[in-house]
Amino acid sequence: MASSPVSLSRRHHLTPRPAASASASTSTSLRRSRLPVGCAAAGLRCQAQAGDMDDDGVYIRRCVELARKAAGHTSPNPMVGCVVVRGGRVVGGGFHPEAGQPHAEVFALRDAGDLAENATAYVSLEPCNHYGRTPPCTEALINAKVKDVVVGMTDPNPIVASKGIERLQSAGIDVRVCMEEEALCRKLNEAYIHRMLAGKAFATLRTTLSMNGVVLINPEGITQLLKEYDGVIISGILANKSTLPTSHEAGAKQPLYIIIAQGENSQLKIPFLKEECASEAVVLTDSPVTVKPPGVEVLVLDRMSLEFILEILAQRGLCSVLVDFREAGGEFASLLKNFQEEKLVQKVVVELLPIWAVSKGPGHLAFGGSQSFPLKDVEHKEVNGCMLLEGYV
Ligand SMILES: [Zn+2]
Repeated sequence: MASSPVSLSRRHHLTPRPAASASASTSTSLRRSRLPVGCAAAGLRCQAQAGDMDDDGVYIRRCVELARKAAGHTSPNPMVGCVVVRGGRVVGGGFHPEAGQPHAEVFALRDAGDLAENATAYVSLEPCNHYGRTPPCTEALINAKVKDVVVGMTDPNPIVASKGIERLQSAGIDVRVCMEEEALCRKLNEAYIHRMLAGKAFATLRTTLSMNGVVLINPEGITQLLKEYDGVIISGILANKSTLPTSHEAGAKQPLYIIIAQGENSQLKIPFLKEECASEAVVLTDSPVTVKPPGVEVLVLDRMSLEFILEILAQRGLCSVLVDFREAGGEFASLLKNFQEEKLVQKVVVELLPIWAVSKGPGHLAFGGSQSFPLKDVEHKEVNGCMLLEGYV
C-alpha cells in the first residue's frame, strides 16, 4: 500500500522537492566536507573557564559534544572527542573527523602543544593501542607526557578492550574511567558498538504519520537523521516513483541508498538518481535485474532477509542504517516480519505531524512484527512544530 496522497500545508515544508534540487544535493555528497577539528572551533577555551574544574563528567561531556561534530562521517570508526586540561583550563581539543584521518587524541594534543605535558587528557572512548591507518593514540599520549587520562568508556571490542588503558598504565600514566558519563558515551556510539558486537548494522525504523495515522512524506523531517546514518534502506517501488531521501543539513555526507528490489521485475528504474551518482546506490535483489541509471551496483542475494542484509552492510563498513518506511506494505514489509524477536531493528523513530490527512485506503501501518511490545527508553521532542518520538526495541 502506497503512502496516501495528502494536501499538505507549506507551513510544514511538506511539498516534495523537485528533482533538480535533490540531485544538486546529491552531488554535494561527493565532496567530503572539511570539518574544523580544533578546540578553538568549538569555543571550548572560553567555556572551560566557567566550568567545574574538578568534574570529570564536565570534560567527558565536552568530548562527546566535539565527537558529535563528525556524525555521519566516521564509519566504520567510532565518533571520538578529546580535550586536554591543565591547571583547570582546557588547553586543547579535537575530534576524529573521518575514517583515514588522525584520531581525536592527535588533534587535541596538537592543539595543546607543549601545554599537554603534565596535563589530563579526557577521551570519550578508550584510546586505541594498535597500528591501523594511523599510529596508536596511546603512543601519542605517552610521547606528549600527559600526567593522566580519563576515558568515557572502554573499547567495546572484547578482543582489544582495556589494552589501551593497560599500555598507558604501563608507561606510568594514571588512567580512570568516568562511570558518570559512560551511558552517554555508549549512546554516542551505539551503532558502532552494535556492529562490533552483533556483526550487523544498527537499524532504525522511521516514518511520518498524520494525527489520524496516515503515512505521510515529509522530506524536511528526515534530513537531520539522514545526516547521522551511513545508509538508508528503501523499496524499489519507492525509488522508482519518488525523490531519494536527502539530507539538507550543513556539511552532511549523504547516506548510501540501499534499494530492495524483489519480485519478478527484471528492470528497475531509479529516475531521481543521476548516472554520475550511481555509486551512491546499491540494489539488493533476489533475482537478476537491470538497473537504470547504469553503474549502480547490483547484489543478487541467495536469501532476502533483513538479517542477511544487515550483515552485508556491516561487512561493507556501514555502522547504521535507516529503514525509510514510507511504502507500507508488500514484500518490503515482509522483511520486517520478525524484527523484534530476531533483534534486527534496534530503534524506532516516528514523526507525528499536526495534520488530519485524507486517506484513500485503510491507511494502517504495516511495519511488520509478529507481536506487541513496549518500546524502551522513549524520548520525545518538538521539532519545527512536529512531535518526534523515539524508542528502543
Ligand atoms: Zn586512536
